[in-house]
Amino acid sequence: MSKNIEEVKQQREHAAHDPNNQDISYRDKLSTISTEGKRVYIHPKMTKGKLTTWRNIVGVFLLMLLVAMPLIKINGDPFMMLNLIERKFVIFGVMFWPQDTFILLLMMLSFLLFIILFTVTYGRIFCGWMCPQTIFLEIVFRRIEVWIEGSPAKQRKLNEGPWNGEKILKKIAKWVIFYTLSFAFVNIIIWYFMSFDKWLLYASEMDKHIPGIILIFIFTTAFFGIYLWFREQICLIACPYGRMQGVLIDPSTIVISYDYLRGEPRGHQKKGQVKETGDCIDCHACVDVCPTGIDIRNGTQLECVNCSACIDACDTVMDKVKKPKGLIRYASEKEISTGKKVGFSPRIIAYSFVLVGLLAFFFTMLFTRSDVEVVVLRTPGLLYQEVGTDSLSNLYNIKVVNKTRQAQKVDIKLSSIRGEVKIIGGELTVRPGEKTESVLFVKISKKDVTDSKFKIALDVVSGGEIVDKIKITFISPNIQ
Ligand code: SF4
Ligand code: SF4
Repeated sequence: MSKNIEEVKQQREHAAHDPNNQDISYRDKLSTISTEGKRVYIHPKMTKGKLTTWRNIVGVFLLMLLVAMPLIKINGDPFMMLNLIERKFVIFGVMFWPQDTFILLLMMLSFLLFIILFTVTYGRIFCGWMCPQTIFLEIVFRRIEVWIEGSPAKQRKLNEGPWNGEKILKKIAKWVIFYTLSFAFVNIIIWYFMSFDKWLLYASEMDKHIPGIILIFIFTTAFFGIYLWFREQICLIACPYGRMQGVLIDPSTIVISYDYLRGEPRGHQKKGQVKETGDCIDCHACVDVCPTGIDIRNGTQLECVNCSACIDACDTVMDKVKKPKGLIRYASEKEISTGKKVGFSPRIIAYSFVLVGLLAFFFTMLFTRSDVEVVVLRTPGLLYQEVGTDSLSNLYNIKVVNKTRQAQKVDIKLSSIRGEVKIIGGELTVRPGEKTESVLFVKISKKDVTDSKFKIALDVVSGGEIVDKIKITFISPNIQ
């Protein structure tokens, strides 16, 4: 590189702090609000490229997953259901009851920590690749708009033009499709909150659920408004995750970056011209495709949703001008400012390990939760009872929670010592999702008593299998 790297860095630094520099006015305003305070509608060009293809594949897969998850059933339950009203949650086929609130809280906390660490390390990849808002807007609604109204230039012309037959026809077609899709999305989301079966039942007796139907149309209209009009403003001003970026991202975070050392000074180089320019030919292709209307060459901005469209756009240009790809790429500010490939830094590797650990914790909590929860506590106020001349017994309260959809029969056996467990009323039967309480005696021979207070182990048996192991304290008279 013949350019002096330090010189470019200094020029950039100076420009960034020069109050007379018009180029930094982007810092003072949103790209989607004009100086008169009016909304500037973005009509980004559609991109093609490797990342766009992958993003479309991921987006379509996630859309299919969104529809499929409440429809797939495991042991008669949906694969995913978050019924807040009845406080029943099914996550990846595992049923959680109100008694599992603690586990759910732990899982949510680990997930929150995961999101924070992931953002600190990998930036807003979630926004660009997985966020439902981006997927709906870029993969569904925007494509339909282009299909009906044509390229961004044609869209602008149509919007500015008179309400003739063509405009009325196109706008009505777009609105009808947008509203129908919004209605479909709202109903799919409802499947997550009440289960598909219940939704079918409610749909078959609509006359009994008029308030619910009104609510569905209110949400549908809100969805319609978002995708017709509000659009990227959700990411720019409404999304709390987007607002947090300012505190989560630092110079080591991998973000979508413009390589200013390689690209500057930008400009066209005409044939025979001797002016030395960087690789950026100032073609604006990266700005034209940006769904939030920013110029990534100004540096990382809060508006950037990391959609990668500008990478594909710039790579296409680099191909045409026979320069290496990657003038805009996934890289940290550290990597760009030093001009050295950082790759996977120790911090990224360390954080990635923590992220894997958090995921492992999340799934362990999810899949190792026992179906039957048993709590045995000594009955307060009672010590021990003599049984005949050779045995002692302790009285305990037992609480059994059945977290499955089937009734469970539960029995308790001694596992660490000889003796007898007697549940008052016999084996416990617990109905699905409910709890039962009872009392039990543990009787052991005086010969086996080792201390005035010692631990004994119990097996919880259900369906002929040991489903849990618990320890209790046995009280006995002082043994001399
Ligand atoms: S697409 Fe690439 S070459 Fe064109 S303006 Fe953007 S950064 Fe410069
Ligand atoms: S700057 Fe690039 S990655 Fe960021 S939102 Fe715009 S097009 Fe997407």
